[in-house]
Amino acid sequence: MGVWARFKSWFRDRLRPRFGTEYVEEDAPAHPKARTLYIVTEDGDPWSVAMLCPCGCGETLHMNLLPDERPVWRLTVNGDGTSTLHPSVNRMKGCRAHFWFRNGRVYWCDYQSQALMKDIRLLLGLGRPQ
Ligand SMILES: [Zn+2]
Repeated sequence: MGVWARFKSWFRDRLRPRFGTEYVEEDAPAHPKARTLYIVTEDGDPWSVAMLCPCGCGETLHMNLLPDERPVWRLTVNGDGTSTLHPSVNRMKGCRAHFWFRNGRVYWCDYQSQALMKDIRLLLGLGRPQ
C-alpha cells in the first residue's frame, strides 16, 4: 500500500465512531440512541440486537440471534465493551444499507454509494439528507 492509500485508510478509521453496547430487557427501546447497539435479552439470554440504522435513515434495525430462526446473526461482545456481528447487515428494502459491524464500528460494503459521507454524518449525528 502506498503512502496516500495508507493515509486514506488511517483517516477513514478516525471517522468511524465507535458504537457502545447496552443490554435491554425484552424489547428494544422505541427511540434508540444513535451509535448504540442494543442487546435484547429475555431471562438474561440475548435473543436479538437492535440499532438505529447507521445510514441516518431513522429506521431501527433488528437482528435475530436465535439459531432456529432465519436470518440469524452471531454476536460477539468484546472485552472493551464493543461488539461484532456476523454476517453483514444487508437491508433489502428501504435505504438498502449494507455494512459489516465489527468491534463497534460500521464498515460499508464496497459498492455502497457515498460511504464517506455516511461515515461523516454518523460521526456528526446527522440524519439522511432529504
Ligand atoms: Zn438506513
